[in-house]
Amino acid sequence: MRYLIVSDLHANLEALEAVLRHAEGRYDRAICCGDLVGYGADPNAVVEWVRNSCLVVVRGNHDRACTGQEDLEWFNPVARSAAVWTLERLSGENAEYVRNLPKGPAFENGFELLHGSPCDEDDYMVSADNAAEAFTYLERRVAFFGHTHLQGGFIWNRERVETIQPASWDTDRLLMDIEPEDGYLINPGSVGQPRDGDPRAAYVLYNAEAGVVSYCRVEYDVESAQRKIRDRGLPPFLADRLSVGR
Ligand code: ZN
Repeated sequence: MRYLIVSDLHANLEALEAVLRHAEGRYDRAICCGDLVGYGADPNAVVEWVRNSCLVVVRGNHDRACTGQEDLEWFNPVARSAAVWTLERLSGENAEYVRNLPKGPAFENGFELLHGSPCDEDDYMVSADNAAEAFTYLERRVAFFGHTHLQGGFIWNRERVETIQPASWDTDRLLMDIEPEDGYLINPGSVGQPRDGDPRAAYVLYNAEAGVVSYCRVEYDVESAQRKIRDRGLPPFLADRLSVGR
């Protein structure tokens, strides 16, 4: 089975469409690690794609915030204002779908799916130390997670935890073999709001039988996504950051 694994779409339809064109014909099933909405200008279209296309989905913190399940006092003012904007625009059916997304972990074909850390769905796994603790909580040897918007992740090689570097700027695919004895925490990166300094949309393809992960990046129409954010009254900072991937 070949999987397309996406995370942190954040209502960016232009980025999602570019990912789907780039990945076309290379996967059988789609999987989502959460944060469908919040920040971007197309929450309904992005939720509809996930509803119709993703086999397994876990919720993200913005999915809770944008459906009234979170005390927005804890969010920074920009994220809070985007959450309120999204809450007012999501259709009843889409809001219902997002509100009922399950908390991770979810399981599929020998791997697991998380939004943040396996200890707490809202914790950010950014360092090898965070990952070392997380590996002790994993129920499968291979896990996919999001939340940090940083493509890469961590390998536990039974002696230490190593950090996986993202695909470099001069390539759109980076292959990694899954070693049968090692543990993997794999971050596909963010489709809709990358924060690793590379503004290209990020995702992962996973061939479970062959044991191969492809880290992928694809350029998309950033200007259209930015224009919609500004025209529809979301905070302009959310448009600006898309050009720099921060
Ligand atoms: Zn996110």
